[in-house]
Amino acid sequence: MVNPHAIVGDIVELEVDAIVNAANNSLLGGGGVDGAIHRAAGPELLEACRTLGGCETGQAKITPGYRLPAKYVIHTVGPIWSGGQQGEPALLRDCYRNVLALASAHRILSIAFPAISTGAYGYPLEGATRIAVGEATDFVASHRMDVIFACFDETTKAVYEEELARL
Ligand code: ADP
Repeated sequence: MVNPHAIVGDIVELEVDAIVNAANNSLLGGGGVDGAIHRAAGPELLEACRTLGGCETGQAKITPGYRLPAKYVIHTVGPIWSGGQQGEPALLRDCYRNVLALASAHRILSIAFPAISTGAYGYPLEGATRIAVGEATDFVASHRMDVIFACFDETTKAVYEEELARL
């Protein structure tokens, strides 16, 4: 399998070592993929998140996956898009780097990312995808880890495929 690669699917169903949650600073749940992950993982996930003291934008924290097929959830907080001059690209890059470093420290061998920041947080999909694909590609060049981009729809997957083909 090409690594990294993009699929269309619901991230909560994936049988991987870790799935990534596009969370908010409170880590206490929200809409979008965050809500879907909490619903599928069960209330234990919220209990675990309550002990973490939130998460700064660009940083990452890990919990078990509870009722998910995935063993772990790595929570990260993407930047809210506000025009691109507020450090959004660097913060989004930090999300990918910090998640992958944390995953590596936990000996995670397979991980699935949602398109962080591109939903409610409004980051333009093309720019976000360039960062996601670039960071994952750099990382897998020197680490044994399978990276999957779990796209919610075909349109998102097409953008990922285009970016992956560029490399
Ligand atoms: P953010 O607040 O970081 O923008 P969102 O959850 O609003 O996060 O959106 C991030 C991306 O996750 C969007 O592309 C959205 O379509 C997608 N998404 C929502 N639910 C799921 C899911 N269950 N699996 C995979 N992707 C999802």
